[in-house]
Amino acid sequence: MLFPLLNDLTLQFLLTILLILSIIAFLIFQLSTYFKKKPQKEVVITQMKCKPCNYEEKRNFQQGDYVGKKTGKCPECGGEMIIYSIYSELVKGKPKPYVKT
Ligand SMILES: [Zn+2]
Repeated sequence: MLFPLLNDLTLQFLLTILLILSIIAFLIFQLSTYFKKKPQKEVVITQMKCKPCNYEEKRNFQQGDYVGKKTGKCPECGGEMIIYSIYSELVKGKPKPYVKT
């Protein structure tokens, strides 16, 4: 016996406390890593351009978008708007709908 002063019951009690403490420490560790690593979310952006006047517009990707697709008329000159780029952006926190700046 390592601790001659302790009887079996005290030893069992101490082991139980130790087990509970290690479980709590494990949970705290798990929670801290969860809060440190905030999952980054991606938002897919479709970029459109008007060839004659170089007017650009961005919006959230919509199903059926592809590079070269005609999306409508340019609000500046009335020319044709064409999708020229589709890419994803990392967003911190909750993904928000694209806001024009
Ligand atoms: Zn234009």
